[in-house]
Amino acid sequence: LTVEAAVGLENSAGPANSADSGVKVIVRIRPPNKVEEDGGSVIQKLSNDSLSIAGQTFTFDSVADIESTQIDIFQLIGAPLVENCLAGFNSSVFAYGQTGSGKTYTIWGASNALLEERDQQGLTPRVCQRLFERINEEQEKHADKQLVYMCRCSFLEIYNEQITDLLDTNQKNLQIREDVKSGVYVENLTEECVSSMEDVSQLLIKGLSNRRTSSTTVNAESSRSHSVFTYVVESRSKSMADGGVSSSLKMSRINFVDLAGSERQKQTGAAGDRLKEAGNINRSLSQLGNLINILAEVSQTGKQRHIPYRDSKLTFLLQESLGGNAKLAMICAVSPAQSCKSETLSTLRFAQRAKAIKNKAVVNEEIQDDVNVLRQVIRQLRDELHRMK
Ligand code: ADP
Ligand code: MG
Repeated sequence: LTVEAAVGLENSAGPANSADSGVKVIVRIRPPNKVEEDGGSVIQKLSNDSLSIAGQTFTFDSVADIESTQIDIFQLIGAPLVENCLAGFNSSVFAYGQTGSGKTYTIWGASNALLEERDQQGLTPRVCQRLFERINEEQEKHADKQLVYMCRCSFLEIYNEQITDLLDTNQKNLQIREDVKSGVYVENLTEECVSSMEDVSQLLIKGLSNRRTSSTTVNAESSRSHSVFTYVVESRSKSMADGGVSSSLKMSRINFVDLAGSERQKQTGAAGDRLKEAGNINRSLSQLGNLINILAEVSQTGKQRHIPYRDSKLTFLLQESLGGNAKLAMICAVSPAQSCKSETLSTLRFAQRAKAIKNKAVVNEEIQDDVNVLRQVIRQLRDELHRMK
């Protein structure tokens, strides 16, 4: 085997497991509230994937109107997310939009949905529930492979550019680290193992009750923080083939991200500490917007350029989801009300830019068998060759 042939062999492995995936963008229009009821809607849904507002037409992957249920959103985004996760892909779901547009309702659900009104449950508990069901199915279906699954969760909040552990609020100001083995992670963040939906519900209830909210003049209860719930699934399997034993380890994670309100600062009448908060929140959010512009440009022109992931906590933490090794879904939440029209337009423009990004998601799998040992030898040989030159 020549080194060239060996290198060829190495390079030929892989692409089958990778997918050039665009960002899935969904717009959800929430129903009018009591105050808005008589005002009609400024948005017209034209088809399953298009809408018009102020004489402009926008097209996305899907438009979910005021009739859409939590189950509809699960079918659109959650069900594919579960299958991708089991296949070994990393994913993130972001909820973007102004305060009061339905982000929290969509991602977590109505406030009492985890305990009582289950039909109001949001995307996160539905995805976790389905994951447990599917894991059971997979274990039964592939009994020969001795599949072992391990699931764990973490829940954090970014507020004022500081990271707090929502599962242990004594842990404040946590730091983001990065290394070759683990990638980007939050140091000392609590990770709880979960083995049932009850476990997950308990963690969600705990984390959500720890979320910080504060009032501003525009919104009685406005969310000034970003919260990120991460669900990690690890699976090990063993299989006997051609007289040898190979084992594989797959690991995938899903990040559920409820972003702070995207409304412009001047409307909130923020002052003093509030203004400082808003400034910082805008740093993470505006940096997200910034990156989306850059990545959309890179995808369109093919020109590489520096991507400033580390300029905010949010983009540093979720860099893999932005143009990297993860599938990304963006739920853009909007209000139908006339009074929200300019914010709605700005959300839709954000959504349209996000649509242009291309991520490169690959299956995260380590196979310990002869081929992998060979690959390692090839790598060593190549390094040696390189040193000799
Ligand atoms: P945000 O998190 O964007 O600030 P919320 O999710 O808190 O907004 O939604 C604001 C209010 O509207 C909440 O009372 C929520 O229950 C309600 N709401 C939002 N979206 C829907 C929807 N699709 N159907 C019914 N009620 C909704
Ligand atoms: Mg909210």
